[in-house]
Amino acid sequence: MTKTCVVGAGRMGSALARALLAEGIETRVWNRSPEKVAPLVAAGAHTAESLAEAVAASDVVIVNVIDYAAADALLRMPAVERALAGKVVVQLTSGSPRQAREAGRWAAERGIAYLDGAIMATPNFIGGAETTILYSGMRQAFERHRDVLRVFGGNGVFVGEDAGHASALDTGLLTQMWGKLFGTLQALAVVRAEGIGLEAYARYMRDFQPVVDAATDDLIARVGEGRWRGDAATLATIEAHYSAFHHLLAVGDEHGLDRVLPAALDGLFKAALAAGHAADDFAALMRFIERGGVRHAA
Ligand code: NAP
Repeated sequence: MTKTCVVGAGRMGSALARALLAEGIETRVWNRSPEKVAPLVAAGAHTAESLAEAVAASDVVIVNVIDYAAADALLRMPAVERALAGKVVVQLTSGSPRQAREAGRWAAERGIAYLDGAIMATPNFIGGAETTILYSGMRQAFERHRDVLRVFGGNGVFVGEDAGHASALDTGLLTQMWGKLFGTLQALAVVRAEGIGLEAYARYMRDFQPVVDAATDDLIARVGEGRWRGDAATLATIEAHYSAFHHLLAVGDEHGLDRVLPAALDGLFKAALAAGHAADDFAALMRFIERGGVRHAA
């Protein structure tokens, strides 16, 4: 039976360790601050005198610390590096695609099988049948340890042999999440300033969501096909979007709301309008984002 080791017992690392223990998988846990390991030991985890010892006793080493700098400092200690040879590292710490590729190269040079994962969930979702975790790197390691990885989330997906692809997708998916979360904060500021209850906003937001989802799918298709010119299938031109959008700054100014977010979007709209894209599809804004068009226009 596969023996595992979880490096890092923070919020996420503890959830990962608990998911392994719930499946009866032999699991060692190591954390910089030892006190966080105690509740996991109570749940059946093993401890080790040192990280090198924990690694030596395991087949699959799952790493989940705050960032790659912390992970690298731990994994590249000579005794740990030696113990890792021939084992599998599953790096679940968040990082950039470049950091993931660099870690993949480091592992390959030392005979360590490497998977870089992006957890598309918060700790309370770990172990869920629909929880998505993206993995990239060594396909063979993913196939071989699928049963262990499935414990973290039913939707564990291998996204490519370029070790950076899971992180790249993570960054892309989180970008849209932050767009929505920051957008929600700005929206709540507007509706509160206008005396509308948040429950009412939440209800209408859910009603509106299918329209936003369809527009998002349409945008992805148009960007992929390069169909940025306004045409018969265009849902709303840049001009039509802007006629609704520009009120956001006005309402915010009336109520003294922060301008940073709407001003950034306003800058993109204005650059596209100034460049003659009024009648084009919203997808035409992609040209300004990809080529730093607003910066060049300024
Ligand atoms: P957390 O609760 O703050 O835990 C951080 C962990 O990193 C702790 O085990 C901490 O050890 C360790 N650590 C920090 N600096 C270290 C260092 N210099 N050397 C060794 N260990 C160090 O954070 P978390 O929420 O579990 O997040 C951990 C990772 O998962 C991050 O990369 C995060 O982006 C990713 N992630 C988190 C979520 C989430 O919803 N929480 C979702 C997806 C991905 P100590 O206990 O000693 O401080």
